[in-house]
Amino acid sequence: MTEIRPLYLNGQWQTPGKPLDVINPSTGEVFAQVATVDRAGVKQAIDDAQAAWPGWRSLTGKQRGIYLRNIADSIERRANEIAKVITLENGKPLAQSRGEVGMSVDHLQWFAEEAKRTYGRVVPNQLPGKRHLVIKQPVGVVGAIAPWNFPLVLALRKVAPALAAGCPVVLKPASATPLSSVLLAEAIHEAELPAGVFQLVVGNAKEIGEEMFSNSNCRKVTFTGSTAVGHHLIKQSAENVTKLSLELGGNAPLIVFEDADIDLAAEGAIIAKFRNTGQSCIAANRIYVHQSIFDQFVAAFVEKAKALKIGDGLSEGVDIGPLVDEASLKAAIANIEDAKKQGAEIRCGGKRWGDSQGFFLEPTVLTGASENACCLREEVFAPIAPVLSFETEEEVIAKANDTQYGLAAYLFTQNLARAWRVAEALEAGTVGVNDTVPATSQCPFGGMKQSGLGRELGIEGMDAYLETKHISFAGIE
Ligand code: NAP
Repeated sequence: MTEIRPLYLNGQWQTPGKPLDVINPSTGEVFAQVATVDRAGVKQAIDDAQAAWPGWRSLTGKQRGIYLRNIADSIERRANEIAKVITLENGKPLAQSRGEVGMSVDHLQWFAEEAKRTYGRVVPNQLPGKRHLVIKQPVGVVGAIAPWNFPLVLALRKVAPALAAGCPVVLKPASATPLSSVLLAEAIHEAELPAGVFQLVVGNAKEIGEEMFSNSNCRKVTFTGSTAVGHHLIKQSAENVTKLSLELGGNAPLIVFEDADIDLAAEGAIIAKFRNTGQSCIAANRIYVHQSIFDQFVAAFVEKAKALKIGDGLSEGVDIGPLVDEASLKAAIANIEDAKKQGAEIRCGGKRWGDSQGFFLEPTVLTGASENACCLREEVFAPIAPVLSFETEEEVIAKANDTQYGLAAYLFTQNLARAWRVAEALEAGTVGVNDTVPATSQCPFGGMKQSGLGRELGIEGMDAYLETKHISFAGIE
């Protein structure tokens, strides 16, 4: 039997409840177990975090920043080991896991600096004898719920700014990928954060969510995951008017105009679609190519897709790992079947790969799908790339925006005026112009429409964990 990895609660390593199996998606086998907590354990974790709050908030931003830098150093020292664990539990190629660890370190370093910059302001008075101050204060205990697709970096987009702002955090990772968070807890332990400031809970998602929203000590919940669960959390937040940040699903368009560098666009589309085996919230879900260059683009794109190496993420040179679980693989295959029924032609891929128990799908390129095909209406979360043609700029902007989602959008053009015009017209929180890797610690990230509420990263990412208070003085003669 595998060793049971403990949870980190009130500064102690604990194994309270029935262990959860962690499966390697490349083999379909259980390779580790993690302890869980029940609802009473979650309540205790929140209450202990609340008890730790006064001490943590009373530190200066500089002092909290030093803790964050020490966490970053600890993660950096163990980067290879942590990357391997990400690959084992998530399936992504090792090089991409290393990239995820690098970005996690960068987020911690950025928020370590931002901890010193939670500026308020002094506002000129309207009436004689008055003075007005606006100050920023930590919101309180934060419940952070993370997904499995980028298990370390998306947890840190919440944990790093919350800690920097002076808020204790109760982190719930996805059940498929809890080990990255155990390693994060080890780095936090090594950095000697005060007990209770960071709490790691794993267990029944519904129970953990219910406790976060009904416990008045939990002042904010920040969630990354599906729009369906996001809807549910919005309703739950009504009970205590719990503050809420949501990073939800996407359905990103990628537009290639007739004046684009076609090879650059095809390479960019490969990254935007197939990175993380298509399981990225900002993955290009619909690729629109001007009709005059359609055949040329599809030929270049298909050639590059066919060259991608599929396999166990731990093997050297692999570009495409498995999907996270059997259900995701079945859903992806159903999507391809639906597209075929809706008139799509398979240009490459289209079926399960390999003879192992792993959840692999060949990188798949489709053309000619009708607009009603599920792969165009819904977020696919698999290496399936539908390519469509368009005639005019106006038409493609309307098609790109014809979705409930608004997380990311991409366009390829060498015309500067068009780049500005189209970037401004697209309804998305992030627009990449000739750029399919837009996310960075310094800039806000989040969704319009049903892709979310609020922003992570950048100065906005820090503001999400701060309350704004106005202090008014009278009688200052
Ligand atoms: P999910 O099913 O919504 O799960 C996300 C997290 O929420 C997991 O930790 C899950 O726990 C938990 N959860 C599920 N039901 C819950 C409930 N009733 N109450 C509280 N927590 C609950 O999403 P997913 O399938 O893991 O992730 C994929 C989705 O995330 C995609 O839609 C993707 O676009 C989106 N995403 C968005 C962003 C962004 O920044 N906008 C980034 C990455 C991913 P369990 O694992 O225990 O079920």
